[in-house]
Amino acid sequence: MFRRTAVFGVWIAIVLVAVPCLGLDGTPSDGHILEEALAHGQAFENLRHITDTIGARLTGSEELEHAAAFAIERFKAYGLSNVHREEWRLPSTWERGRCAVTVIEPNSRTLVAASMGWSLPTAPGGITARVINISAGTEKQLGALGLATRGKIGLLDLSGAGVDEFFNGIRSFPRRMADAGLVAVMAPSFKQDRLCDTGWVLGAEPVKVPFLSLAREDSQYITRLMAKGPVSLHIELGDRIGPDRMVPNIIADLPGRTRPDEYVVLGGHLDSWDLATGATDDGTGVMAVLEAARTLAALGLKPDRTIRFIMFTGEEQGFYGSLAYVKQHDKELDKIQAVFVMDTGAGRARGVNLQGRKDVARRRRRCWGPC
Ligand SMILES: [Zn+2]
Repeated sequence: MFRRTAVFGVWIAIVLVAVPCLGLDGTPSDGHILEEALAHGQAFENLRHITDTIGARLTGSEELEHAAAFAIERFKAYGLSNVHREEWRLPSTWERGRCAVTVIEPNSRTLVAASMGWSLPTAPGGITARVINISAGTEKQLGALGLATRGKIGLLDLSGAGVDEFFNGIRSFPRRMADAGLVAVMAPSFKQDRLCDTGWVLGAEPVKVPFLSLAREDSQYITRLMAKGPVSLHIELGDRIGPDRMVPNIIADLPGRTRPDEYVVLGGHLDSWDLATGATDDGTGVMAVLEAARTLAALGLKPDRTIRFIMFTGEEQGFYGSLAYVKQHDKELDKIQAVFVMDTGAGRARGVNLQGRKDVARRRRRCWGPC
């Protein structure tokens, strides 16, 4: 699955096809850029360092700080300019603790589950309660259940009505759960083979109820049991919520030759969730950004406009870092000529998502056409 072309695909493509747009001085052939990237590339070694050596890079964690320090050191070693941190405030930190979920009625069985990021812990010793199906947890669906949700564990069902409303209003979901009097909420995992989700875009404020991902197969098991009669669970979550913390975006520039105050931005995000090491989301993206910087600097290329390399943070919790960058640079936004962000994981690069910007489609075709 994980191939050399996967990591470099998008950025090498960008570097190659963007050459006419960027106005690189002393433009080398495409072959020169490819040769530098493929013969002397350090992306895999850098990716191994931030995943195998540093590990998961949850926003607000010490590991993310280690990764930020590594990125700064690498950008400087590669000869980039204006290498620095730009900090923004994370409302609260979160650290995963023990998660134990057990069926106690009608039988006894341990389930596979994981806390969702920024979940509240349960009280020490855990909670025991009956499970209720809350559909997609919309205002209307919860209203129809009335007082039946009080003191219950809510099991979401995101396969039917109300799913679009659920995701469109996901930031208000924790409040709705708390208002309904639920003592915990479980979401069936979108993954298979008893893998759990780790977090959705719920923000980095503590979720107002204990909230966990339940393995898809275990969720189906609970649903089958509920069709026959009452089901009670014991849930214990030991997650820890901490105070606010300043977290850095990492910036580095390849200065422009003739229009240095205009920018082309290449970005990815350095943070990851914590059950794995974020190799694909977004280790591949952010290390490809670093490799693009290394390749262009190593060849001594001087673009017309400044190429700004940005490693955002807090993206998995809801775009905290990129939104902070927009606020911190609001006076420069008109100077940004293009933004390329890689956050789609590994795999063969098959295109570019314009994020709804149909107005740039023609320019993109002109810029990305055959050189
Ligand atoms: Zn991502």
